[in-house]
Amino acid sequence: MKYVKELFAMMFVVFLSVDTVAADTVVVYSARNEQLIKPLFDAYTSETGTQVQFITDKAGPLLARLKAEGKNTPADMLITVDAGNLWRAAEDGVLASTRSTVLDRNIPSHLRDPQNRWFGLSVRARTIVYSTERVKPGELSTYEALGGSPFKGRLCLRTSKKVYNQSMVAMMIAELGEKKARAVVESWVGNLATKVFSNDTSVMKAIIAGQCDVGIVNTYYYGRLMKKQPDAALSLFWPNQKGRGVHVNVSGAGITKHARHPEAAKKLLEWLSTESAQRILADSNMEYPANPAIKANATVAAWGSFKQDTINVSKAGSLQAEAVKLMDRAGYK
Ligand code: FE
Repeated sequence: MKYVKELFAMMFVVFLSVDTVAADTVVVYSARNEQLIKPLFDAYTSETGTQVQFITDKAGPLLARLKAEGKNTPADMLITVDAGNLWRAAEDGVLASTRSTVLDRNIPSHLRDPQNRWFGLSVRARTIVYSTERVKPGELSTYEALGGSPFKGRLCLRTSKKVYNQSMVAMMIAELGEKKARAVVESWVGNLATKVFSNDTSVMKAIIAGQCDVGIVNTYYYGRLMKKQPDAALSLFWPNQKGRGVHVNVSGAGITKHARHPEAAKKLLEWLSTESAQRILADSNMEYPANPAIKANATVAAWGSFKQDTINVSKAGSLQAEAVKLMDRAGYK
């Protein structure tokens, strides 16, 4: 099966490299799934007439491929989730800097690369989720406080191997310093009710099942679960509102260094920051629009508004290795 997939991927590249791609077509490598990006690109094509060709894969393989293809890559744009992944792509030299007044205006500066090699397109809030049966919101305050004695044996966490948690801890290092961040992570580990879970949904299911009372998840997973189980006794809490704000990350995109259609790619990237695209992105995955002028969809807005952490999300990348080391030392599996 995997072989077949690779064969198709190779055929795709051969197909693209024989100059069959029209001058204004944009070729995208996307770590976001087809279900999400196809409606987006269809909308773009119908608005502008520009075709978008894409392949989807996981972030790691796409980046490896961009590096291996080098100058011969057919890709004009990389789309992926997590600032850590975007930072890695920029660091590996596969993205070009893009100057654009449209992007400067639409995307807040903390949600894009300081060197303009990638831009956040949707915001993902990683926040506290709690059992409405066993926790009162008044008992919650900050991420740090989840390590306090009131939550001894009541916390569920997803594995530290997931980039979302690596990014979250990296941002904590940026803001609290290594020593304090490590103390927080150690206190979380000390409060764990169970071994860590492989995904956010499992964390919430454990809370529903009574295995634990609080956890940390990306809000769109909460949205998906509540759609399936509207009666689940779960709620979101926005921590650190008197301080740095809720930890946010992005999904985003950048134009590749060896893009064959850089102008067309820039137009697409700019369009992705505008209302029609932001609407589709926000609605389809229950994320927050990166463009602050666009409102979240109704379901998402009903979770309440919050102050987001405005530290530059690129810190999630630059401090990722340190975060991984810290979590390892703290015994966070
Ligand atoms: Fe996710």
